[in-house]
Amino acid sequence: MSASASKTHRRADPIAGLADPDLFCASAFIDGQRSNDSADTIDVTDPATGQVIGAVPALDGAASTTAVDAAARAFPDWSGLLPQERAAILRRWYEAIRNARDDLALIMTREQGKPLFESRGEIDYAASFVEFYAEEAKRPNIESVTSHLADAEVEVWREPAGVAALITPWNFPAAMLTRKAAAALAAGCTCVAHPSSETPFSATALAVLADRAGMPPGVFNVVTGRAAEVVEPWTNDPRVRVLSFTGSTEIGRLLYRQSAGTMKRLVMELGGLAPFIVFADADLDQAVEEAIKAKFATSGQDCLGANRFFIERPLYDEFCRRFAGATAALTVGPGIDDPDIGPLMNQRAVDKQRQHVEDALAKGARCLVGGKAHPAGPLFFAPTVLVDVPADALVMHEETFGPVAAIAPFDDEATVIARANDTEYGLIAYLHTNDPRRIYRASRALQFGMVAVNRTKVTGAPIPFGGMKQSGLGREGARLGMEAFTEVKYVCRDWR
Ligand code: NAP
Repeated sequence: MSASASKTHRRADPIAGLADPDLFCASAFIDGQRSNDSADTIDVTDPATGQVIGAVPALDGAASTTAVDAAARAFPDWSGLLPQERAAILRRWYEAIRNARDDLALIMTREQGKPLFESRGEIDYAASFVEFYAEEAKRPNIESVTSHLADAEVEVWREPAGVAALITPWNFPAAMLTRKAAAALAAGCTCVAHPSSETPFSATALAVLADRAGMPPGVFNVVTGRAAEVVEPWTNDPRVRVLSFTGSTEIGRLLYRQSAGTMKRLVMELGGLAPFIVFADADLDQAVEEAIKAKFATSGQDCLGANRFFIERPLYDEFCRRFAGATAALTVGPGIDDPDIGPLMNQRAVDKQRQHVEDALAKGARCLVGGKAHPAGPLFFAPTVLVDVPADALVMHEETFGPVAAIAPFDDEATVIARANDTEYGLIAYLHTNDPRRIYRASRALQFGMVAVNRTKVTGAPIPFGGMKQSGLGREGARLGMEAFTEVKYVCRDWR
């Protein structure tokens, strides 16, 4: 049934400027119905102003199990559709997202804080996964194997794994959800999703659009509520066959442990501590421009954000001078005014910036720009450049997840590669050099799932996104992203 016809419909106070106010939806979505089955609610705050923009139901463990019931009931029909039929629904979802781009971006900016231009960019990115997997759903999934037996024929099939649980963070509240959901749905899985309680409205808006696109009841469920209460029943439920999580390594480890009892397939997109390495032969203008993007996109709250800048000694002073100048020119303000940098998500994030700055200064670093709170509001932190940062500073070892750049010089290739690799994380590394042999050597030596050479923007639906070491398990995007939601079945047919 259409969600908008549901009796339990509850709309949030409309955000001014929405062309389609129904997209701002203060309900969970379970079994094709809007669900508000809880007296308890969770307030959602605009980080730019501190204003509560709405609230979503704090559903409990019983409701989250009801969502799995719905997804398990929907699985036989959804997985039994022709791939072209699933693809057609995904394609309609994609078109609905594209058509609602400006409204979705506005909702995201109000709940997440990011500048409007970045929110629009994220909606495009989110839609691109739905489009990609609508196509990928149709591709043949049979692998041909030459038989090793004289009297038998062998085949390997990919089958949808079952119900998939998707747990997503607040920094990319639309794209992290579609990257998982579109792949799972294309593979024939049904989903239960928990969006971050800081940014649930981007997810509920996507659920409204999925419903309008004709997604059958139970196929794509969004359950709002306190994370531990909603997600723990999923980790224990044997019907949930895949758990795909994006968030911190700490919570990733917890979910890994919780999922052990039911031996789930896991996809983990976790934290990063990206090194940004500039060799003396690099194009300095290009390196500075890309460094600004790698540090300050999403106000620094990006798992791909450069945390540690290593600059070869001959370029060091000039790089620091130019980078500091470009940083000082960045505009800061509420996302709705479309500045370069918006607010941070919460007070914890602001405290972490302050802690990393104070610790680095106490250990001998110098601050060229920023280094303190920004007057735009309590959750704003000034874009900051720290130089001569010693190796033992916290900012060189912990994900800062904010607009603080830490820079240190280096003298030779072997040392900088060793320093870059000296972390439990391995998501992305940035490399600037014009020496083709060094590009090859360093790309091989860096223990990261992604290496970006002389550029920052490298992601997109067709590439395998993910990290090594404790940055995660598996990959999202590309064909691999869909295969994560499948089981492999080997069939051997005797033909005597
Ligand atoms: P987080 O605290 O780990 O939260 C991520 C998600 O997990 C949220 O939906 C959160 O819900 C939920 N969660 C929290 N506690 C949970 C629990 N006990 N059981 C089940 N779920 C739980 O991470 P975050 O602070 O939101 O996001 C920042 C982190 O995500 C950074 O480390 C960043 O690098 C990483 N990240 C990685 C990627 C990637 O693709 N590799 C992309 C984006 C972000 P609530 O918000 O409701 O608590």
